[in-house]
Amino acid sequence: MLQPLINDFLSLIYPNQCPACQNLLFGHESWLCNACMLSLPQLSAYSHRQQQLANTFNGRIPLEAVSTYYLFEKNSRVQAVLHSIKYRQHAPLAVFLGERYAAQLEQEGFFEGIDFIIPVPLHQKRLKQRGFNQSERLAKGLSNYTGIAIDNNSLVRSRESTTQTRKQQFARWENVASIFELTPTAQARLEGKHILVIDDVITTGATLEAVYEPLSKIPNLRISIAALAYAVKT
Ligand SMILES: [Zn+2]
Repeated sequence: MLQPLINDFLSLIYPNQCPACQNLLFGHESWLCNACMLSLPQLSAYSHRQQQLANTFNGRIPLEAVSTYYLFEKNSRVQAVLHSIKYRQHAPLAVFLGERYAAQLEQEGFFEGIDFIIPVPLHQKRLKQRGFNQSERLAKGLSNYTGIAIDNNSLVRSRESTTQTRKQQFARWENVASIFELTPTAQARLEGKHILVIDDVITTGATLEAVYEPLSKIPNLRISIAALAYAVKT
């Protein structure tokens, strides 16, 4: 597809471009233009999409709460924003959106009782390639706004991908089980706590299910989930 290449090229010439719509930003606008800030498809707490998202995890992860900021659709401005964070190294954009999202969640009382924010870890190799973990940068924005500490020391990604081949689907649990692992100090830190796990995009929920697998071994741990975007299966 040519468009992302053109956008990347334009961003070299016009660095102050809105990553969602590619219009130039005015001096008072930071990261996103005002028009996109107001019109990107935010999901309110009671929208049926949020309910659909919650249903995705029914019977898979016992959750206190789950939320997402934007609806993700193919070739949309939200996709352009996520592309910009991941592939144009716009880590500060993720922090910015995390702060905006936190302001909305705070109004809904979403953070009440949460002890730690835990971003979905990237594999070490991928982290070196990209230079940052986009979920960690989102978590940083949430933490900036709320003052809730980020915990990067309890969970590690020991394998790179959750992509399931046909063969692996038959051995789904073995496949899922070995992607994320707890560190030796995790249980002491997290027992009896309420954590908020942060991901960038939720699609099938398979990644978060893999995250839950080791966390499920911690006694009396309560889990909530928030993500920047929800890609509805069509
Ligand atoms: Zn815009």
